Amino acid sequence: MNFYTTILGSGAALPTVARHCSGQVVNINGYRILLDCGENTQTQMRIYHQKMQSMATICITHLHGDHFFGLPGLLSSMHLCGRKNPVDIYAPEGIANAMTTFMQAAGSHLDFELRYHELSHTEGSQLLFENQLCRIFAFPLVHSVPTYGYLIEEKPRGKNPARRYAYCSDTGYTESFLPHIHQVDLLCLESTFDNTFASVAAEKLHCTAAQAATLALKAEAQQLLLTHISARYKEPDKLLSEAQAIFPNTLIAADGGTYEVHYGKLN
Ligand SMILES: [Zn+2]
Ligand SMILES: [Zn+2]
Repeated sequence: MNFYTTILGSGAALPTVARHCSGQVVNINGYRILLDCGENTQTQMRIYHQKMQSMATICITHLHGDHFFGLPGLLSSMHLCGRKNPVDIYAPEGIANAMTTFMQAAGSHLDFELRYHELSHTEGSQLLFENQLCRIFAFPLVHSVPTYGYLIEEKPRGKNPARRYAYCSDTGYTESFLPHIHQVDLLCLESTFDNTFASVAAEKLHCTAAQAATLALKAEAQQLLLTHISARYKEPDKLLSEAQAIFPNTLIAADGGTYEVHYGKLN
């Protein structure tokens, strides 16, 4: 079964030509889930052949602009292209009010239903969604506003174990969510800074590459994918080498890159 993510934006708060703001599409055997929707996500979808009308489930990690400012535009385009099917949006509290205010101010009308599922804080992991292919869980991260990581778990088929993919952005270094991502097959984690900016990372509640690698190691993840790369890194080799020194099986996300969730225990 196919299980992979296509990165639409691997940058941090300030988009660049090479790295757009956060957004990615997880594909499980044709079922697509949009994780975050930063500015320009819909254009990136067109460039990287992700059909917007096939998206019915959208999960937003938090209400910083680089993670959801693309949502009004994407939804408007869905309407303009004739969408009738509902869209489910999972996000922290406040998304419904923010979107309603924005759409009313813009005089926007949608011919399809938006179903908001606002997440409220719990220490544990919450099951949000389940279909015949997968389940989606949310769990709290540590950031300057309420923020959730998402775990997508495939349903086991035959003798294969169920693969699991986790997306954690944005977060400061904390071990509080490690139980929720234990032994994931692919861990996509923010890595905004290199080691020389460790104090800035701590202050702004982001991770350095080394911290991301440490979390991957402690979680016993199979593979680490770094994302949310600061615009200051034109060539992020420094981030990659700092992470690989701690967790060798590390990749850096690139816009347009597709990353498969491998069967970690079978390889
Ligand atoms: Zn961010
Ligand atoms: Zn943020």
